[in-house]
Amino acid sequence: MSTARIGPPDAVDFLGVDALLSDEERLIRDTVRTFVRDRVAPNVAAWFDEGFLPRELGRELGALGVLGMHLHGYGCPGASAVAYGIACMELDAGDAGVRSFASVQGSLAMFAIHHFGSEEQKRQYLPSMSRGETIGCFGLSEPDFGSNPAEMRTFARRDGADWLLSGTKLWITNGSIADVAVVWANTDDGIRGFLVPKQTKGFTSSNIHRKLSLRASITSELVFQDCRLPASALLPEAKGLSGPLACLNEARFGIIWGAIGSARTCYETALEYAKTRVQFGRPIGGFQLTQEKLVNMLLELNKGALLALHLGRMKDDGRLHPSQVSFGKLNNVRAALAIAREARTILGANGVTLEYPVIRHMNNLESVLTYEGTSEIHTLVLGQAITGIPAFT
Ligand SMILES: Cc1cc2nc3c(=O)[nH]c(=O)nc-3n(C[C@H](O)[C@H](O)[C@H](O)COP(=O)(O)OP(=O)(O)OC[C@H]3O[C@@H](n4cnc5c(N)ncnc54)[C@H](O)[C@@H]3O)c2cc1C
Repeated sequence: MSTARIGPPDAVDFLGVDALLSDEERLIRDTVRTFVRDRVAPNVAAWFDEGFLPRELGRELGALGVLGMHLHGYGCPGASAVAYGIACMELDAGDAGVRSFASVQGSLAMFAIHHFGSEEQKRQYLPSMSRGETIGCFGLSEPDFGSNPAEMRTFARRDGADWLLSGTKLWITNGSIADVAVVWANTDDGIRGFLVPKQTKGFTSSNIHRKLSLRASITSELVFQDCRLPASALLPEAKGLSGPLACLNEARFGIIWGAIGSARTCYETALEYAKTRVQFGRPIGGFQLTQEKLVNMLLELNKGALLALHLGRMKDDGRLHPSQVSFGKLNNVRAALAIAREARTILGANGVTLEYPVIRHMNNLESVLTYEGTSEIHTLVLGQAITGIPAFT
């Protein structure tokens, strides 16, 4: 068959992954992309520089329909996993801090309530969280326990019908701006989840400063000193570490896509720069070394996009195993970081400033490599999956 009528592939979507999306999925992509272009891209370098994210963005993301996007009922949009992934990709193409806001709100805090909460908790929180009027956070990590949350020290003990919660959570996204914290604590019956409203006596939060990554995202310490909680604060259906791990599995799925969004922006920026920046009398994109860098980026970007879509379709079919989510997160974040670093070199000195998005994405990706399970932990998950032998301890 002749290939004469087949046009040249797109320089970014080289494999034509776009053609594998439905019209509705493309519409979601365009809607979120436009929001990012108009609202995030013009402002995010300043937010990153100043180390903050405007709280009102929550309501705007709610209006966009990306908070708790893949959850059904209680005012949530009830979109597919692929549609949610596409939204994460487009938000992350703007900044991983903005995507983290949506991930923590929807996949961690809202998912925990949706999956493990009582009917009353779902009705109380989910509709306003979906609109971004109520902000949630997810407190699992502690100063001494990150990769190994099973040994967490935060403890909730029974006191009559109430609970008394004490402990410290660290590195909590949206922590100080949250109206309600989903907090995981050890109890005499193992790990349980609690909904802790901001105004609870004994609950304080403070922001972590001097971060050089995910600066357009609030990261906080949460301290609980004998916080008295009613019995109705307990998430009734979450028992043991499988509760928080199920939430993390949801958020990691979004990261598989988000990383490709960040990588795409870095690649597009480097490609454009390479075509216009002239050295030695010609565009640097005309040098073989630069072309090799761009091609390596193109390969990983397109393979990562295909992987994200494949895993998304599997999730929508109910066939996605958590170890396959680890596969996606490990591969795509690693690939995105390599793309960002390579793009940075193409921009030369301009690559180290916030005038271009590349170093912002590169620094963000260092956090993304670590949170929601470090690259080492996902390697061990996959190692166990293929050998049958756990190597965590
Ligand atoms: C910006 C940001 C936002 C975050 N947001 C949240 C949030 O909203 N909620 C929340 O609960 N947490 C959050 N985290 C915390 C994050 O999940 C943890 O940082 C992560 O789980 C790693 O824990 P740690 O930093 O304590 O590192 P550690 O667990 O101390 O690990 C340090 C190093 O040792 C390695 N390591 C540990 N165990 C093993 C092993 N068995 N074998 C080989 N290597 C190992 C790790 O891979 C890593 O390289 C956030 C982190 C960041 C940076």
